[in-house]
Amino acid sequence: MEKKVRVRFAPSPTGGLHLGGVRTVLFNYLFAKKHGGDFIVRIEDTDQTRFVEGAEAYIFNTLAWCGLTPDESPLHGGPYAPYRQSERKASYKQYADQLVNAGFAYYAFDTPEDLEQMRAQYKTDENPSPQYNHLLRTKMRNSITLSEAEVAALLAAGTPHVVRIKMPLDETVSFTDMIRGEVSFNTSQVDDKVLLKADGMPTYHLAVVVDDYLMKITHAFRGEEWLPSAPVHILLWKYLGWSAEMPEWAHLPLILKPDGNGKLSKRDGDRLGFPVFAMDWTDPKTGEKTTGFKERGFLPQAFVNLLALLGWNDGTDNEVFTIDELIAAFSMERVHKGGAKFNYEKALWYNQEWIKRATAADLADQVAETLAAAGTTASNREVLLRVIDLVKERCTLMADFVTQGSFFFMSPSEFDTASIQPKWTDQKNMFFIELSKAFESSIVWEAHDLEKTFKEIAAAHDLKPGELMLPLRIMLVGGKFGPGVFDIAAIIGKEETVNRIQKVLSILEHN
Ligand code: GLU
Repeated sequence: MEKKVRVRFAPSPTGGLHLGGVRTVLFNYLFAKKHGGDFIVRIEDTDQTRFVEGAEAYIFNTLAWCGLTPDESPLHGGPYAPYRQSERKASYKQYADQLVNAGFAYYAFDTPEDLEQMRAQYKTDENPSPQYNHLLRTKMRNSITLSEAEVAALLAAGTPHVVRIKMPLDETVSFTDMIRGEVSFNTSQVDDKVLLKADGMPTYHLAVVVDDYLMKITHAFRGEEWLPSAPVHILLWKYLGWSAEMPEWAHLPLILKPDGNGKLSKRDGDRLGFPVFAMDWTDPKTGEKTTGFKERGFLPQAFVNLLALLGWNDGTDNEVFTIDELIAAFSMERVHKGGAKFNYEKALWYNQEWIKRATAADLADQVAETLAAAGTTASNREVLLRVIDLVKERCTLMADFVTQGSFFFMSPSEFDTASIQPKWTDQKNMFFIELSKAFESSIVWEAHDLEKTFKEIAAAHDLKPGELMLPLRIMLVGGKFGPGVFDIAAIIGKEETVNRIQKVLSILEHN
């Protein structure tokens, strides 16, 4: 029987989630759902020095916003709990011991000062930061250089020590990456990574392998930046006797700066004025705030869609996909090897597409929230739905609903009378006085009838409707934007329409 697909997203809670991280989540999720498998989120928090308060909650809030719900996680529970590595601390030591006993790893008693001295002593121009590796391990204080008796005495005395992997000399470690194909490393290039720290905590390298094994992970997808660690992990799978259970690997391409020059960083976003994190993130230590796609006004469907297309396509020109369509179309083999350039204009295009496609009802809650945050209460849902239908084609970001929608719910606080003034005449003034009277006494209040009244009165005053549209728009909206003026008048109602016309007439009169 085929093994059930089990994939994991294994973030370290060190800060906000970069869009590359969310894309890793997404590819995991799509693969799992496509194959009827499980999507697990495991929190890799064994490096306590990098732990950041609030980062884990942020990760789960982001996943919830994106609709990428884990099947198992510290929050959702599951048969392999706990899903936080710090809570699994006790389970790792036995594997480190097993590796030491089999000669694949060793104890190292070097103090931080010893390590510093080693780096200083062996530093050269070609090798500015010498590593603890097959060459230098012979010069250090470890169970390879010390006698058995010395090691036993040090251990008995409780001397602080770490466990390091003993990288073999000049061997080739190869594996087949689902995206890159055959990948090989020479083991001499890799240092003797620490597996278990002095405080008994595993490092990422040991913990990731042990947990992928214990949690029966079948496919491990992660960012390309982890590729250099792959030989260590593959050897650990082998040394622990689990090669047959090893997951298939896929190292996802980087998301690049818009100009293609290196990995997209938070700083690029700050510099170029677009978000790089999924949601707003405030660094608890520095108080520094980073804007997220959510707060910038992206719909989660658009965010997910644009991430999927960063480094993947279905082989056609199709760009807009729902999550179900993505699940159906996704395959790891179609993920590109090369990095994907991030293009913010394109991201905006996706959002616009999704706003267009969404129904007013889909958008209503979010629009109401956005308006409320800007101080506009849209209490009448029916009106809100009409407004959304009328303006959504003009909105790229959710915040655009504030500009395009607020004046439906409250009178503009400013009117761009400067744009009316230069061409204002008594004749026009008379026209608007009569128009407001006619509106006041009209019985039906429909866009079509309002337009008819407007045109009739214009003709009677020998004025072209074209000259009167802009003033009317500014009277109702405050500025030169928005959907059809008669549609606006129909929605805001008779009283408000008449009030706004009269208000602007009096401003013009007093100027
Ligand atoms: N904990 C690693 C990270 O923070 C996970 C890498 C992996 O998936 O193996 O990205």
